[in-house]
Amino acid sequence: MSENFDVKLDNKSHLPEYSYIDNTWMGRYEPAYRRFLDDPERFWSEIAHELDWIKPWDKVLEWNHPYAKWFTGAKLNITCNCLDRHVLGDRRNKVALIWRAENDLEERVMTYRQLHTQVMRFANALKNLGVKKGDKVCLYMPFVPEHVVAILGCARIGAVHTIVYGGFGADALNSRIRDSKAKIVITADVSYRRGKAIMLKSIVDEAITNAPSVEKVIVLRRSNLNVELIQEKEVDFYEIMEQAENYCEPEEMDSEDPLFILYTSGTTGTPKGVVHTCGGYMVGTYYTTKYVFDMRDTDVHWCTADPGWITGHSYIVYGPLATGATVLISETVPDYPDPGIWWKIIEDIGVTIFYTAPTSIRMFMKYGEEWAKKYNLDSLRVLGSVGEPLNPEAFEWYYRNIGKSKCPIIDTWWQTETGMHMIATLVGEKMKPGFAGKPIPGIIADVVDKDGNPVEPGIGGILVIKTPWPSMMRTIHNNDERYRQYWSGAGGYYTAGDLAVKDEEGYIMIIGRADDVIIVAGHNIGTAEVESALVAQEPVAEAAVIGKPDVLKGQSIKAFVTLRVGYEPGEQLKNDLIYNVRMSLGPIAMPSEIEFVDTLPKTRSGKIMRRVLKAKEMGLDPGDISTLDE
Ligand code: ATP
Ligand code: MG
Repeated sequence: MSENFDVKLDNKSHLPEYSYIDNTWMGRYEPAYRRFLDDPERFWSEIAHELDWIKPWDKVLEWNHPYAKWFTGAKLNITCNCLDRHVLGDRRNKVALIWRAENDLEERVMTYRQLHTQVMRFANALKNLGVKKGDKVCLYMPFVPEHVVAILGCARIGAVHTIVYGGFGADALNSRIRDSKAKIVITADVSYRRGKAIMLKSIVDEAITNAPSVEKVIVLRRSNLNVELIQEKEVDFYEIMEQAENYCEPEEMDSEDPLFILYTSGTTGTPKGVVHTCGGYMVGTYYTTKYVFDMRDTDVHWCTADPGWITGHSYIVYGPLATGATVLISETVPDYPDPGIWWKIIEDIGVTIFYTAPTSIRMFMKYGEEWAKKYNLDSLRVLGSVGEPLNPEAFEWYYRNIGKSKCPIIDTWWQTETGMHMIATLVGEKMKPGFAGKPIPGIIADVVDKDGNPVEPGIGGILVIKTPWPSMMRTIHNNDERYRQYWSGAGGYYTAGDLAVKDEEGYIMIIGRADDVIIVAGHNIGTAEVESALVAQEPVAEAAVIGKPDVLKGQSIKAFVTLRVGYEPGEQLKNDLIYNVRMSLGPIAMPSEIEFVDTLPKTRSGKIMRRVLKAKEMGLDPGDISTLDE
């Protein structure tokens, strides 16, 4: 990377006054961060002590770069913290899950006691099928309550789950089953998307033809389609539960035993099978759910991700249930039957914490704020964002139209690999649109050059995490070499693959992926900055920029732009957009070309895949596009 990499920092900031700042568990940011720095191991052990362990740890951390072991010697079962603790305490009859169907006509509610029983029965059913601790179980399911039951059922007996998003096709499913050597696949007859039924079971049939590890397929028959099951190989979800006992002793898991394997989104290349372990992951997700979202016992938490992504694992299932929250889960997409559906659900259920992705927010902006205005969103208290940089324009829109200028926007930067939030602006802290925030207490993050030396504020560089944290991935399944690479660049720190810039106050802004960086006349340009300058303009709904070879400048910038409803593409508009970027960022960051498109290529989790645009533009092979949403 060249040394020239300055970024224009925007000093817009909101200073909302929150009366509940001082109630935040652990206290405010500064003292909590100092407490962490004073004694990191004590900091983490204090948090871990809030949870139930079958046997406590001998050591908090054993760090042998790049390998970490957390809470060594401890025994636990994560489901005891997500379920038994609440059932034995006073949350027994508290609502654990509220589910809304895709058509928004069906609702199901489950208390902690009911969920506990279902999980134990399902765990016993798995045992009856011969599943043992350490066996791999692949989940390929619609987002129904049974999905959560299946996840926790695996964890109860120590089976390692690997969840594949139900929107993937047979090839993507096949490669994940083969890579993980899953013994069992759990699926359903159908899932619904925008009113259409997707035959999940037939996709599984295709995906397992050459996957000899699969011994049984468990099928949840949710519709009246009467899917026939092949005797011997296939069993019915509820039939096997009915034959199972009610009580299932939790498997004693070692803190470092694997809990799950999950493949990354595939935004920048072939997805990596990230391995997370029991103890550290439990502590990390519990801590961040409670602290970053300021979770209270009265909260109704809605994270709009799917369990097939890390966000679903950490902030639909494990984190919120470990804190004993009421969790809303929903099969709905943001714009079906209309772009008001999510706001309607928030009003109906009284959601207090809402966590979504910039791609959805930009989509709502495209349709206009009238949809949100139709509903009462007063119950909302905290809003979150994850997955991509939240453009300042999208931040403002979210803050005003959804949060009614009273809810903090918690932008959370983290990854499948990190397991939990790393950088965020906590409730009660000053928010700066465009900046994710500061490293949370427990995390030492920085922006450095290629040798690991910190760069000056305002200068872009490599985002690193300097010290281990409990929920860090332990390896990449079947590819430990790839794991070591994460810790081998930039002075041996953990490199996330993202570029960032820090301001004088220590706030970190993500400026793009290292793989996507554009170098114009010797200046490194992060994609996020140019894209935000485009999105800041009224007609633009979304933008993606790439670098194209240029004889004079090395690279020139090409922007792909989608327009908001009511705007038409045209030469004048192109010139205006380019001119405005030039005015806000200067000539270096100005696109030399703009193409209007109807949609941008995205992963199925909604992240823009610039490498696909670039390959197409250059007539090159786009590489692994198994996660591309068609
Ligand atoms: P792959 O690693 O397979 O290319 P991916 O990186 O998109 O895919 P995830 O682990 O789902 O897979 O996403 C993590 C990445 O998402 C981060 O490295 C970062 O680029 C981006 N990201 C997540 N949250 C934020 C955020 N709040 N602001 C900016 N970027 C974010
Ligand atoms: Mg990644």
